[in-house]
Amino acid sequence: MSARSIDGKAFAATVRSRVAEQVAALAAHGQPGLAVVLVGADPASEVYVRSKGKMTIEVGMKSVEHRLPADVSEADLLGLLAELNRDETIHGILVQLPLPAHLDENQVINAIDPAKDVDGFHISNVGLLGTGQKSMVPCTPLGCLMMLRDYHGSLSGLDAVVIGRSNIVGKPMAQLLLKDSCTVTIAHSRTKNIEAVVKRADIVVVAVGRPEMVKGDWIKPGTTVIDVGINRIDAPGKGEGKARLVGDCHFDSCAEVAGAITPVPGGVGPMTIACLLANTLNAFCDQKGLPRPR
Ligand code: NDP
Repeated sequence: MSARSIDGKAFAATVRSRVAEQVAALAAHGQPGLAVVLVGADPASEVYVRSKGKMTIEVGMKSVEHRLPADVSEADLLGLLAELNRDETIHGILVQLPLPAHLDENQVINAIDPAKDVDGFHISNVGLLGTGQKSMVPCTPLGCLMMLRDYHGSLSGLDAVVIGRSNIVGKPMAQLLLKDSCTVTIAHSRTKNIEAVVKRADIVVVAVGRPEMVKGDWIKPGTTVIDVGINRIDAPGKGEGKARLVGDCHFDSCAEVAGAITPVPGGVGPMTIACLLANTLNAFCDQKGLPRPR
């Protein structure tokens, strides 16, 4: 391996401790509160929600969890969101996705007060980000951007290829890179000759959900690879029915060629929760009329 492995776990710990210091410094203005709403009992979502709650408390914020049955009506869910929008002790609201099929995800997300939309998925925040205005920025792409800025310093003029065009990762990632003056290409399942597209990039952000899709021979020597994918694959070597996590990039072959790469696990994942806490603190400051901490 020649690439530097970007340690998202350590970086996230520094972000969380900075947030904790800022929360303590702002105590005279109140305590930031984050409400997480989980519908149904998806095991992966349960794990995320537990770990979000634990880290929220660790940085000194108030954490509230609302667990609703999988068959909750849209009216009841919207009613809860309206209550949380009014609750002055809650500054950030997150609805854990995906939602069961009978609920309209757009309708639910857009029912959150944009000022409390710490996931940055509300249509107002999407528009603000797209027009370069102050907004809530989606946590996963924000974490990727922070790691890229930390590694490169300025991103200006770099060729960036984002693979994936989802509303939660690919599209906001592309917006953020564009805002930092990268030349941005978004690739997706219909992109022709994707390997050649990826090969010209100085930065590749991969958010697809296909285990180890991007191989070392796709990338230019020295490229920075940010692997957002989280895929659970069989690991017979670990025992019957055991699984292991891999990214969307084939780590060993990419690490031979890349300049830097994020591992899975331990790369983008921990940064996502750290950015959620940073966003909650920003939302708190916005709502209190205070400047956002730097
Ligand atoms: P989506 O399924 O919403 O989007 C996947 C994207 O990948 C789509 O735009 C799709 O293209 C594209 N795609 C699918 N197949 C190919 C292919 N063969 N070649 C090129 N592009 C392809 O996924 P998400 O954006 O929600 O998540 C992506 C991955 O990131 C998942 O593994 C998810 O678990 C992980 N993730 C990790 C987070 C973290 O905190 N680390 C947070 C969020 C997600 P098209 O639009 O044409 O269908």
